[in-house]
Amino acid sequence: MARTFFVGGNFKMNGSKESIKTIVAGLNEASLPSDVEVVIAPPAPYLQYAAELVTAPTVTVAAQNSFDKLSGAYTGEIAVNQILDVGAKWVILGHSERRTILKETDEFIASKTDVALANGLGVILCIGETLDERNAGTTLDVVNTQMDAVIAKISDWSKVVVAYEPVWAIGTGLAATPEDAEKVHAAIREHFAAKVGAEAAAALRIIYGGSVNGKNAATFNACENIDGYLVGGASLKPEFIDIVKSRE
Ligand code: PEP
Repeated sequence: MARTFFVGGNFKMNGSKESIKTIVAGLNEASLPSDVEVVIAPPAPYLQYAAELVTAPTVTVAAQNSFDKLSGAYTGEIAVNQILDVGAKWVILGHSERRTILKETDEFIASKTDVALANGLGVILCIGETLDERNAGTTLDVVNTQMDAVIAKISDWSKVVVAYEPVWAIGTGLAATPEDAEKVHAAIREHFAAKVGAEAAAALRIIYGGSVNGKNAATFNACENIDGYLVGGASLKPEFIDIVKSRE
């Protein structure tokens, strides 16, 4: 089954109206491939602004987080319906920065994933091991455990994109090699097939994140289990467009 290539841009806590306008204008003016889905994730205050600026037909907007309750006394949290209300279609959940800095657990991420999907958002679900876990040889245990928490909670995976992001590769300039990334992606898909089913596994998009840039993106082109990228730092730069076009 053909899986639509997916490139996400995670702006993290960076940007201003001016810089976001420039990035979106760059995407709108570029002749982007029609078969690549592009999702940009600006900080929450700029979701509506970004969504209203986008005219490129293949580009939509994601929030960087959402809560697992729909309304109420949860100061500072953002509800799924509010994200939809301002024109965004996706949310990034389980990013390693939230797992480590904000101490989000697998169960909480699974609960947020469940609520986001049930209320109409697509979910970019991030998983990945730390350097210590990699050095201990537990990469697959870690990512499979992270996946299992969500597998236990949801049954429809059609609106989920899994982002395999080794923590040691995020923001370090040290991307995983295509061979290493492909091995982990294949193992994630195999584990998912065993737990959820072969058809869902064949359809599941598993994207790679961790120091992807305009130069190295195409080095992953031969990896049959890599269905796109989640891009941090480089998504703030013009080279993001090169990444979107890297399969051309
Ligand atoms: C990320 O934060 O999701 C990410 C992949 O960052 P970077 O591309 O900067 O490594």
